[in-house]
Amino acid sequence: MRYQIRLPNDLRKAMSIARDNISDGTLVEITDPGEHSASFAEMAASQSWDDIVAWKFKCQHCGEEFSLHAETYHGSGGYWEPVRKGAVQKNL
Ligand SMILES: [Zn+2]
Repeated sequence: MRYQIRLPNDLRKAMSIARDNISDGTLVEITDPGEHSASFAEMAASQSWDDIVAWKFKCQHCGEEFSLHAETYHGSGGYWEPVRKGAVQKNL
């Protein structure tokens, strides 16, 4: 399943879930530093985000990779979803 991000608040919520999952060791960030200017850790700590965010995480338990991407200027067009398309079965 995937979580659709439409409003800035949806992104904030997705980021706080990601942060919780990182701090309890469920997820590790695997964003390719060449792909993006700021890592999730850097951006989550600051209050100013780039207009377009794109991070990748990996589940430490099952190895599933997740992508969190959104356009924050309008807070639209984003998803928190498994990278593997077969794992996306429905929208939340
Ligand atoms: Zn997992």
